[in-house]
Amino acid sequence: MAEVLIVEDDRMIGETLRDSLRGQGYRVRLVTSGSQAIQTLAGGTIDLALVDLGLPDLDGVELIRRLREAQPAAVIVILTARRDEIDVVVGLEAGADDYLMKPFRLAELLARLRAHLRRGPAAAQRARLVVGQLEVDEVARRATLGGVAVELRAKEFDLLARLAMGAGEAVSRETLMSDVWDAHWFGSTKTLDVHIAALRRRLVEVAESAGCLAPAITTLRGHGYRLEVPTGDAVAGGR
Ligand code: CA
Repeated sequence: MAEVLIVEDDRMIGETLRDSLRGQGYRVRLVTSGSQAIQTLAGGTIDLALVDLGLPDLDGVELIRRLREAQPAAVIVILTARRDEIDVVVGLEAGADDYLMKPFRLAELLARLRAHLRRGPAAAQRARLVVGQLEVDEVARRATLGGVAVELRAKEFDLLARLAMGAGEAVSRETLMSDVWDAHWFGSTKTLDVHIAALRRRLVEVAESAGCLAPAITTLRGHGYRLEVPTGDAVAGGR
């Protein structure tokens, strides 16, 4: 049974969420401040955290950073008001996997959470993908570049694996959203872009330390992304 932590200072929203999630069979803890959330972290593993960015005592982004550190395998979803859109990007960069704009439909939230939990670390599938110096092992959930481990967050890994599966092919935004995040929902575009940006940064960092080229992820305007297949030494060495 999945453990869910809700951090929300608006009692109405928090209690409604808690009751609905309990009704779905989740074990749920509701806290109304950042400091309570941090105390809760000591109490065991969390599978999923729903975090309101506007908390009375602690910056929501700082809380996400601490949550991510304490619970590397947890899925973290930001709950936010539309006016805090900038914070969403910062929150995603700090370690959140997804976000939901208030007001949201409960049915939509529940569908998202089910999808996230299904895709948790336990859902090992498929195989080992090799694209040039990049290797993505979907069973072990491990990626290496030039033999050096690429440390990725859950969704970054899923995104890289999905792109690697279709290496050299254009993969549409819709496909990436539905395969990595399940279903489409409003506002998800930013989630994808932030994760791509983070993925590119990590690949470049690792490529530098491994002394090889970073695999390029090309942006296809109005369509999606493509993970490029390196043309290889033969071409680099001239004809
Ligand atoms: Ca709030």
